[in-house]
Amino acid sequence: MSDSATTQRSAAGAIVTEDDVIRVEDLRLNFYTALGVVRALNGVTFNIPRGKVLGVVGESGCGKSQTGLAIMQLTPAAGRYEAGQVLFRESSEQPAVNLLQYERNSAEMREIRGNNISMIFQEPMTSLNPCYTVGAQIEEAILLHQTKDKAEAQQRAVEILRKVGMPNPERIAVSYPHQLSGGMRQRAMIAMVLSCNPTLLIADEPTTALDVTTEAQILDLMRELQREIGTSIMFITHNLGVVAQMCDEVAVMYLGRIVERATVEDIFYDPKHPYTIMLLRSIPRLGVNRAMRLESIQGSVPDPYSQVTGCPFHERCPSAMPGICDTIMPEEIIVAGSQTHTVRCHLYT
Ligand code: SF4
Repeated sequence: MSDSATTQRSAAGAIVTEDDVIRVEDLRLNFYTALGVVRALNGVTFNIPRGKVLGVVGESGCGKSQTGLAIMQLTPAAGRYEAGQVLFRESSEQPAVNLLQYERNSAEMREIRGNNISMIFQEPMTSLNPCYTVGAQIEEAILLHQTKDKAEAQQRAVEILRKVGMPNPERIAVSYPHQLSGGMRQRAMIAMVLSCNPTLLIADEPTTALDVTTEAQILDLMRELQREIGTSIMFITHNLGVVAQMCDEVAVMYLGRIVERATVEDIFYDPKHPYTIMLLRSIPRLGVNRAMRLESIQGSVPDPYSQVTGCPFHERCPSAMPGICDTIMPEEIIVAGSQTHTVRCHLYT
């Protein structure tokens, strides 16, 4: 979403555009465990305009992956939605549907998963079945969602493998996942996901386990296919370099909330939230004096079982204002002079 896109605010106060593929509004998810309640998502609100790529960044445990899983209703059984809605709009002509109205194992959710919304994980072996050939698994997805003709599904599977840059796709189609390299398995995974032309792709750290050369190839491939097919992407990563390469917009998460949201340019050149600023300072940069130490963010993400009062970042924040930041939760505000840059921080209220 660029500043030029037509933006408005929803009844819940979220920034939205006229054609959002997905709008997540005030999503709250808790896990009820033997050790206590983990508040995984504490009012997550964001939108993804059709055809755009939203990067979701933050440290481990900030709720990035749980947000993706919550959209798909794939959270572990201990998870319970406490509030919020996930409004999905398959096409510009259709009305938005709240996915949370469906049971997680309902026929509607199974149809939406895979056909309309797909997910790629960091480790492709968690999604590829080692007992079946790559081609058979892609065919299965095609037969389930696209056509009932087996010969056509076989042909399409080979075409898709070719499209994702597999050398000799006919041979790859009859190979088992363990016979492929990590990069090839990730390509196979992307092929499986794209076989259904999903409206929304949720990519959860899809290149973290790959070497840098393969990572660059996979990112190029995803961007190319995204442009060609027009799929919107929610790209979950802790790697800000990948965000710069892949995304149109960025949402920065901390302790189950989005604390800043802006275009890639604004996040990199005009970050507002102290957490975003510190994340950016912790990236190694070319040309910077080697004697200079990288800055790290002091402390760690609070214990997920505890309930923090005030701003969740106040114990680590160098700009924290005693008496304010440790007692009052900052509201999300739109940064002055911008239509789309939002931040949750008392420094800007
Ligand atoms: Fe820091 Fe206060 Fe802003 Fe939180 S609200 S990020 S503690 S300045």
